[in-house]
Amino acid sequence: MLDVDFFRRWIGTAAASVEREADRLTELDSAIGDADHGSNLQRGFRAVTAELQKAAPETPGAVLILAGRQLISTVGGASGPLYGTLLRRTGKALGDSAEVTPARLAEALGEGVAAVAQLGGAKAGDKTMIDALEPAVAALGTSYAAAAAAAEEGAVATVPLQARKGRASYLGERSIGHQDPGATSSALLIAALAETAG
Ligand code: ADP
Ligand code: MG
Ligand code: MG
Repeated sequence: MLDVDFFRRWIGTAAASVEREADRLTELDSAIGDADHGSNLQRGFRAVTAELQKAAPETPGAVLILAGRQLISTVGGASGPLYGTLLRRTGKALGDSAEVTPARLAEALGEGVAAVAQLGGAKAGDKTMIDALEPAVAALGTSYAAAAAAAEEGAVATVPLQARKGRASYLGERSIGHQDPGATSSALLIAALAETAG
């Protein structure tokens, strides 16, 4: 069973990964966007970390809803509302149980990813975070490690794609040959989950 502490550790590990990888995320965004993805997520996850200390949410769902709300209100870019929706919708799907099973988390994350796809209008292959998140959810039934590997593979597989959503789509064919920053940060989020699960 996964308790509130597990979820706090997951989000804390994700925040640490964003700090570590911020420069790389911004560099990827400088190739096909506006060079702010790392700093956007850094600002967002710093706010999440501060609020988690202050508010001390008591259930898994409340941790994710709080994190999602902070990302929406502090990240200026497209990724704020998208990641905010992912975490808020996943948190809502978990309800107010004090502990959740891994199967329930997999199902809830599936709802969260579907909400992101609906909000952004992106499908698999459009060179967005969906390209890492959808394969991750599909592999969650196997293991967290498999989900992390699938997300990383999905992120790398965005390199030869032409972007069809978001800022990178304005570049047309010139978006080909670069890894999508959002798919890369999504892989970090799933890797943090696998790390937390040990
Ligand atoms: P902005 O593009 O507003 O500067 P960020 O740089 O923080 O925002 O985030 C860019 C990332 O957001 C992209 O790499 C992509 O993965 C993701 N993204 C952008 N638009 C969409 C969309 N419509 N659907 C899904 N993901 C998207
Ligand atoms: Mg950007
Ligand atoms: Mg921007």
